[in-house]
Amino acid sequence: MSNKPIRIMIVDGSSVTRSLLTKTLREEIPNVEISTCETGAEALKRLKESHYDLLTTALMLPDLDGLALCRHIRQSEDYHYLPVIVVSGDADSRLLKEGFEAGVTDYYDKSKGYKAFGAFIRAFIQRHAGLAGQILFVEDSATAAAVTGKILEKHGLKVLQVKTAEEAMSYLAGIEDSKDPIPFDLVITDFFLQGSMTGGDLLYAIRVTLHLSQQELPVLVLTSNVDEQTQVEVFHAGANDFVPKPILEEILLARVRSLLLIKHQYDALKHQAETMRWVAATDSLTGVRSKRYLLDTGETYLKMQENQPLWGMLMDIDHFKQLNDTLGHITGDHVLAELGDQLNAGFPDGMVVRFGGEEFCVLLPNTSAPQAMQRAEELRQEIMDLQPAGIDVTFSIGIVSSEDFPNCHLTQFLAMADKALYAAKEAGRNRVFIYTEDGPIPSPWQDS
Ligand code: GH3
Ligand code: MG
Ligand code: MG
Ligand code: MG
Repeated sequence: MSNKPIRIMIVDGSSVTRSLLTKTLREEIPNVEISTCETGAEALKRLKESHYDLLTTALMLPDLDGLALCRHIRQSEDYHYLPVIVVSGDADSRLLKEGFEAGVTDYYDKSKGYKAFGAFIRAFIQRHAGLAGQILFVEDSATAAAVTGKILEKHGLKVLQVKTAEEAMSYLAGIEDSKDPIPFDLVITDFFLQGSMTGGDLLYAIRVTLHLSQQELPVLVLTSNVDEQTQVEVFHAGANDFVPKPILEEILLARVRSLLLIKHQYDALKHQAETMRWVAATDSLTGVRSKRYLLDTGETYLKMQENQPLWGMLMDIDHFKQLNDTLGHITGDHVLAELGDQLNAGFPDGMVVRFGGEEFCVLLPNTSAPQAMQRAEELRQEIMDLQPAGIDVTFSIGIVSSEDFPNCHLTQFLAMADKALYAAKEAGRNRVFIYTEDGPIPSPWQDS
């Protein structure tokens, strides 16, 4: 959960009540920001100006009735889903009768005391926290769709309503191959649907055809048939849970909340795993691939290129120790970071790796000999011109082709590039050498 403060607005005609409510909320809820208003009109004005997470109102306000304030809120464009809690002196029968219709989210009986009010709101916020997400809602009955849709939206959920399973599938098609996140957090579907697909067929398509697990895309089934046979069928088809019709708001919300929690936890874990994979695969100083990544994937990368020539380039900064010694290690780090950026930008088609301290490696697939020699030479020139951290820096580069040495392992392949690199150093640095059957030779591109 984020550590954004929870913003609560208290609307009450009495200044004493306002300060008592404020005090108990401050005591009970960590990281809370409270605004208070005396009248309904003032509250509506403030809601337009900034975002609130929750509003509490007295049933009687100096100007409006608390339920009228709630109706205004439900009719607004921007904050119609704001949870509204009515704080009333007694369990007013009008509140019980008209409150739901007016869109009141919950009510608190003030006779229970101010202290309990804080705990009530805290519990409400905790329960409510799970209720965020995009729902794909499949229901063929217009009446049922309107009622259920309204309940979901009232609690701040985004709902895309469709009438048939076929229509639902048109929104889901292709997501199994897509790199984008799944655009829905939950599917709620009626079990019996018009059209040739039932809710069961939709479930089958989601679980079997699209390969989406119960964690990746939870499905909640609504059914008027609650006989055991149907229940078994619903779970066999891959539903996470079901809610009997006619829908009871509290039951529907409890199920939705727990399924959204599953989905959000799954997403968070997945995100964490991806971050960890990225961290392990990336060198933190230079932003290029880590040696770990090369060791894990390089061999496969080499094999995958089968009939296409792949070039290996190994490059090492010239006299880097001296640079460190005279300008300091931190300046040396800046130089390495800039070179990393340059290499990433220069070889988007290849795998760029920090091979060792001041040594980089590029695997360049699908490249002919003249292209490889040209690109190595261009790189050498670019580095001379780059002046990372304002310093003259040069690279010695050794290159080798898989075409000349087919069927060798990555280690052997890079060892040959290293021999060419060593020869480039020996020959005076700041130059490109190629490893051939006859050993390392200066790149002919050098002289042209
Ligand atoms: P040559 O031209 O023969 O390559 O000379 P050189 O000085 O570059 O080679 P040598 O292998 O003697 O020194 C490499 C230096 O690179 C020594 C080491 O301190 C430095 N180095 C390695 N990793 C880092 C790093 O992460 N940051 C900094 N600033 N320096 C590093
Ligand atoms: Mg060295
Ligand atoms: Mg060096
Ligand atoms: Mg070195």
